[in-house]
Amino acid sequence: MIQRRDIPSGELLIAGRWTGAFSNETSVTIDPTTELAITRIAKAGREDVDAAVTAARAAFDEGPWGRTHHEERAKILFRMADLMDERAEDFALREAMDMGMPYADFLAIIMPHCSGLFRFFGGLAMNAMEGGYRASYEADVRILTRREPLGVVAAITPFNFPLALSCSKIAPALAAGNTIIHKPASDTPLTALALAQVALDAGVPEGVYNLVTGPGGTLGDALIGDARVDKIAFTGSTGVGQGIMRKGADTMKRLTMELGGKSPNIVFADADIDAALQAAFWGIFWNKGEVCVAGSRILVEAPIYDEFVERLGAMARNAVIGDPLDPATQIGPIASRAEYDKVLGYVEEGRASSARLVAGGGTRQLGGKGLFIEPTVFADATNDLAISREEIFGPVVPVIPFADEDEAVRIANNTPYGLASGVQTGSLARGLKLADRIRAGTVWLNCWHKYHPNAPFGGYKMSGYGREQGAEALESYTQHKTVWANLA
Ligand code: NAP
Repeated sequence: MIQRRDIPSGELLIAGRWTGAFSNETSVTIDPTTELAITRIAKAGREDVDAAVTAARAAFDEGPWGRTHHEERAKILFRMADLMDERAEDFALREAMDMGMPYADFLAIIMPHCSGLFRFFGGLAMNAMEGGYRASYEADVRILTRREPLGVVAAITPFNFPLALSCSKIAPALAAGNTIIHKPASDTPLTALALAQVALDAGVPEGVYNLVTGPGGTLGDALIGDARVDKIAFTGSTGVGQGIMRKGADTMKRLTMELGGKSPNIVFADADIDAALQAAFWGIFWNKGEVCVAGSRILVEAPIYDEFVERLGAMARNAVIGDPLDPATQIGPIASRAEYDKVLGYVEEGRASSARLVAGGGTRQLGGKGLFIEPTVFADATNDLAISREEIFGPVVPVIPFADEDEAVRIANNTPYGLASGVQTGSLARGLKLADRIRAGTVWLNCWHKYHPNAPFGGYKMSGYGREQGAEALESYTQHKTVWANLA
């Protein structure tokens, strides 16, 4: 078992210096396993956002960052990646204590992905920021194109996967030459503090990287309303995203929106059942279901439906629930009391519905404490139930039977969301054909939870727009300038 240790209190990073909030206010962040405070965190207000925007604006307008040769920026991004890997265990401990993510999963999966994002975008900056030369209709006219950074980018990130979803914005933004203000979720700010220190230690110049912690409503409104901020890169709930879009119109903010999901995982009778069960189980229960792309509706073809439900239920009942610092743990605690109450509300909703509870439905504690919810499976669900339509964001899944391909696609697409999806089948041809018909930004065939830094990621429909990861993400942190030269 990894031991908990003291985490220093957190300050704001503004203009290259760590500082308390203007108001001197702080709040605490809670460990959902012990339900004890981990440490105090500075609680920023509008004045602090103003100072951070002033610093980021000055660093962009007057500093060298946006004008530095791409190779210089790339070197700093590569240094950040190396420092993150060196400090992997500290990041893992912070994420486990703050968010309840199993420590071992973080080290094996999340950490390499996060440092990989800095390496990928560092490399891409060296190649993809070049301009061009266009053919002219006029003999004495030359047309040059340049790719330029946007300016000041505010990254507003959610409580789940705090580090990964911060890196997926900060790495491309910095690579393209923007300056950053990061506002992490109030419930899980600890890795954001460590990442900002990495940026300082790697030599990111003063004012290029700023961090403000505090209440989303106040800080969000200050960032969105400030005309000196060029872009908001947001990951969070669809409702908050819509609010940002409305308010952002006043200052014509560039926006990327990574929002909620209710992703269908379609299992056909010709699938390798053992592998499909793994994809279904981890698809919904990884990180206790606090995953935007969780396979949160499992659709199963009639001939294997009974066997599949029975075996998935057994897997859920046998899952190892425990302290995320224990290497044996599969399912950690829900990140906060508010989320825990919300998820339990959906368990009650499921119990009161026409669906059948097959596994879970209860809570657990360790030594009388902890926000643990058992992996919960509701069988015989229909797609119109609240547990099938709304994002639960916890370890609770409805299983819905279907008769044929057309019915599976109809159910899969019958949702306001369009983030991820999956098809488990023995026929790759069928999988690829269905991939064309499913309206979602990601389709996993015979797998779930695959993410590479070079593969674009993002939503259709109410799951948002814009892409993170891949060359597509760099595009959304740049703008194109055309320079006309009259040689006559
Ligand atoms: P959230 O409540 O929308 O909060 C997200 C971030 O926005 C937090 O930093 C929050 O700060 C801030 N915020 C709150 N109110 C705001 C406002 N009025 N203006 C501007 N910012 C505001 O979401 P969450 O509960 O942290 O995260 C879960 C949601 O994120 C789920 O819906 C999930 O599907 C989605 N998500 C999507 C993706 C994706 O890639 N598509 C990935 C992960 C999660 P405070 O914490 O201080 O309130």
